Amino acid sequence: MPAFKTVRGMRDFLPEEANMLKFIENKARRVAELYGYKEVVTPVVESYELLAAKAGEEVRSRMFVFKDLGGRDIALRPEFTASVARLVATTLRTEPKPLRLFSFGTVYRYDEPQKGRYREFWQSNYELMGSNKPEGDAEILMLTDSLMEASGLKKYVFKVGHVGVLRGIFVQEGLEDTVQNVVMQRMDKKEYEVALKMVRDAGVSENCVNILQKLVKIKGSEIFEIVEKMKTVVKGYDKAVSAVENLNAILKLIVESGCKMDVVVDAGFARGLEYYTGMIFEVYVPEFDIALGGGGRYDQLIELFGGEPTPAVGVAHGIDRIMLALQMQKAEIETREKSVMVIPIKEELKGEALKVSRLLREADIPAEVEVMGRKVTAALEDANRRRMSYAIIVGEKELKENAVAIRNLAKREQKIVKIEKLVETIKGQNV
Ligand code: AMP
Repeated sequence: MPAFKTVRGMRDFLPEEANMLKFIENKARRVAELYGYKEVVTPVVESYELLAAKAGEEVRSRMFVFKDLGGRDIALRPEFTASVARLVATTLRTEPKPLRLFSFGTVYRYDEPQKGRYREFWQSNYELMGSNKPEGDAEILMLTDSLMEASGLKKYVFKVGHVGVLRGIFVQEGLEDTVQNVVMQRMDKKEYEVALKMVRDAGVSENCVNILQKLVKIKGSEIFEIVEKMKTVVKGYDKAVSAVENLNAILKLIVESGCKMDVVVDAGFARGLEYYTGMIFEVYVPEFDIALGGGGRYDQLIELFGGEPTPAVGVAHGIDRIMLALQMQKAEIETREKSVMVIPIKEELKGEALKVSRLLREADIPAEVEVMGRKVTAALEDANRRRMSYAIIVGEKELKENAVAIRNLAKREQKIVKIEKLVETIKGQNV
């Protein structure tokens, strides 16, 4: 047999990393509860057609696609939005709006593996369906801020833009959807020259090219000044002007809420996914030049899937990247709870050791029993090495008095405690 390893782009999470993943997952779940998002669990596998419909070429070309044994074209989900939109277009069609839906799990993209880029990765995903109001967009930004903060991240910055600005100009210039999509993809990759050439070749006015050239340079953290500049530049393109006004309304709400998030407005910002129709955003930290999360407004997707016209806005957070950023920022993750090793002093006391361990677990204290047949000294060394909090030594002499020895491994202190007082002693840290 060969020495097996994980498939390229796939990773194992060892206990320490798995612990961190669970830590962020718990924070994500709590944020969902605090903002009123209910969890839905959808399949990892969906029909290719659904996932490909509006994903955009970038994601579409990187999907894990295959035929199942029944000959169906299926794919591993590259994101959650399509699945949630499918639900809202079908099963949840008649549910009263707004619908606030949360999902957590793995998604799959055939990306080139590198730091922060994997082929299986974790996302927390929040979708707010049914509202076309700027307060909906503001909520999605604020809950992202809440998650980043609760995870312990520092110095994270929101990059915010609005797809409606560029699309508004393109529509008024009569640029076809397919051309618009390709241009947006180039802009997403910051290949502005290529994008401009495409637009020019498509026969738009010289005025339009000038405006686009100006627009892609407008960017900064003086958000309301930037928005004013955008508005001046796009004058004459009505849809683009309304898009800028919408962006302004969203940002104003964020400021009024008192939420102190760092925002950079970027007029030339585009995102790979084709379904966006309004505000778009990504979150970055200085340590890293790839996004920790991203989202935006998509008002047509649910209708495209055959549902009622339902405006929507959502976000997906890249949990693997949040983990990396936390490691780079040397953030303190909540330490593990107290753990106890129960060691019988000799063979005949194994049953008693198991009994003590049950007593502890019933009181919600994690307990392990020595199972390697080690002598007390070796067992204590092992518990020490694994940074456990306490060892309980079950010996004959003490048992006669209904007691055991408890040792604080860090302090190297030991005392005899009645079994009935054991839980109280550990919980009260009286040793
Ligand atoms: P997207 O749906 O493309 O906006 O992705 C949402 C988030 O998922 C991104 O902001 C990243 O944090 C994360 N993400 C995207 N691709 C990958 C990948 N290949 N590996 C790890 N995380 C990723």
